[in-house]
Amino acid sequence: MNIILLGRPGAGKGTQCKAIAERYHIPQISTGDILRASVREKTYLGLKAQEYMDKGALVPDELVVEIVVERLNKADCRNGFIFDGFPRNMGQAEVLHKTLKKMGKKIDHVLYFDVEPKEIVKRLSGRRVCRKCGETYHIIYNMPTNIGICDKCGGDLYQREDDKEETIVARLDVYEEYTAPLIDCYRGKGLLRTINGVGGVDQVKKQIMDILDKDEIGSKVST
Ligand code: AMP
Repeated sequence: MNIILLGRPGAGKGTQCKAIAERYHIPQISTGDILRASVREKTYLGLKAQEYMDKGALVPDELVVEIVVERLNKADCRNGFIFDGFPRNMGQAEVLHKTLKKMGKKIDHVLYFDVEPKEIVKRLSGRRVCRKCGETYHIIYNMPTNIGICDKCGGDLYQREDDKEETIVARLDVYEEYTAPLIDCYRGKGLLRTINGVGGVDQVKKQIMDILDKDEIGSKVST
């Protein structure tokens, strides 16, 4: 099962991506997480990427594509993968399509998380992330038991630089200009399924699992 999650930043892709990865035993490929780890580790890639990320701009394609191609070649992607935050523009989508074709693979589903910009600003400006394990919280909707501390691993919670209000607006603009055209592109290929991203985590999860479970049962029946 090869899946792309599409939608505005803060639409809930990261949260649902983890749930899908666990249920179907396929790896999550989140370019944002990979880039943030590189920034933390101060690698060459991280140093180059940081200035773009802090502004809410897209990191240049050549840097991102290289990470993705390398990741797709790892053994754990054999039975499928889920992209969260990739592709982010038409150029990346084309490279992905060509790379998969060479590997004899294709995308099976594109799940588009539909959430309005006003709701996104509310969500992202209150988001807090664990420095250690990456778990996400919200200062109103999903508070940790102890303020500033991760329930899962005890790590410190922080606000991502790009979750500050000025940068959120820039990220939404970038999304409309570069990423939103992918919606029509994948709709045209017959791959797009729209998920109503407003509501509780479990409600959103149910919509996704209903689509993917059907597909998995279908593929088991047909093999
Ligand atoms: P995210 O965690 O997906 O919101 O990504 C955070 C930031 O990482 C984005 O605002 C971009 O600066 C960068 N980024 C993540 N994925 C990509 C991508 N596919 N192409 C370019 N930049 C990306």
